[in-house]
Amino acid sequence: MEHEFGFDTLAVRAGQRRTNEGEQGEPIFTTSSYVFQSAAEAAAVFAGEQLGNIYSRFTNPTVRTFEQRLAAMEGGERCVATASGMAAILSCCMALLNAGEHIVSSRAIFGSITVLFNDHLGRFGIETSYVAPGDLDAWEHAIQPNTRLLFVETPSNPMAEIADITALAELARAHDCLLVVDNCFCTPALQLPLAMGADIVIHSATKYIDGQGRAIGGAVIGADEHMEKVYGFLRTAGPSMSPFNAWIFLKGLETLRLRMEAHSASALSLALWLEQQPQVKRVYYSGLTSHPQHELAKRQQRAFGGVLAFELQGGKEAAWRLVDSTKMISITANLGDTKTTITHPATTTHGRLTPDARTSAGISDGLIRIAVGLEDLSDIKADIKRGLRS
Ligand SMILES: *Cc1c(COP(=O)(O)O)cnc(C)c1O
Repeated sequence: MEHEFGFDTLAVRAGQRRTNEGEQGEPIFTTSSYVFQSAAEAAAVFAGEQLGNIYSRFTNPTVRTFEQRLAAMEGGERCVATASGMAAILSCCMALLNAGEHIVSSRAIFGSITVLFNDHLGRFGIETSYVAPGDLDAWEHAIQPNTRLLFVETPSNPMAEIADITALAELARAHDCLLVVDNCFCTPALQLPLAMGADIVIHSATKYIDGQGRAIGGAVIGADEHMEKVYGFLRTAGPSMSPFNAWIFLKGLETLRLRMEAHSASALSLALWLEQQPQVKRVYYSGLTSHPQHELAKRQQRAFGGVLAFELQGGKEAAWRLVDSTKMISITANLGDTKTTITHPATTTHGRLTPDARTSAGISDGLIRIAVGLEDLSDIKADIKRGLRS
């Protein structure tokens, strides 16, 4: 049997090819088009009879290296890189759905995806039903004869709700649907949805894959059969990843596991500490034994990730006071950065929801979300402590 490389080796080396210069690092191919040796070669490549690059909207060697590396890490046959995480989910839907078909989605998904499903796909006759991610009966009941896609993000943002990927994959198979998992919060370093039966993984590479807040990008990973369709949409419609961003994400993949473990370790310590603070009503983090789905999270994740939320006793006023009293932590809605970030979801990321929708999603006015970075944990705690006291 052929030796199979381990995860860390794939993260550092998968997909790399060297030019005749013998470079150790991966080069950035900043070229929009490619030249042919002859008219006959051009014709053969255009006709698909010969493999070759034509134009960087279609293929680019740096982007291809990123795709092959991430596919190897997720354990998927093929990856298609996209200009953003939103371009990844859009490409997936445009490639795999037809007018009149139906999506069942977790209600706890990235806000712009809800807008995409409702306001944009809705105009083309694709409807979406929403369910609580952990309620398997609700998923099953929401499935209709025309349902084609089940969509879930786990753990969810910001309430850390966990969906059972294995069970959802079985449900999808039984009803001839595809299960799409947004693996942005765990990344392949902590969770491998395809190995649990999911059909497709999507990523916002903008978050932990970059890991340092530099670039926007995304990816779709799955079987050749589906990825050929996603790629067909992408090369025509154009939401392709730039080679420079692909190079940034390649470098991010090399340190991804180390970073995810460090983010997770700090987040768990912070969550345990927050649970002890009298001003804190409740902490939402799947690594806590107080989390109702802790056992499930332990089963399907290697660690619990860098994002946690907590609810303060004093409502919005107390929450805003805490946000405003931080001196080091960045006030921003982004996450997956080396720099710790703090957000008040009710008035930012979830501010466009109706108050009812916010309540049913559990987003109270006293809720704070922290995406724990890689600073000293003592400094992160000190910054939050000041706010709790104020
Ligand atoms: C940010 C995010 C997205 C969208 O990705 P962009 O790169 O911002 O387009 C999708 N899903 C999750 C979970 C995200 O956090």
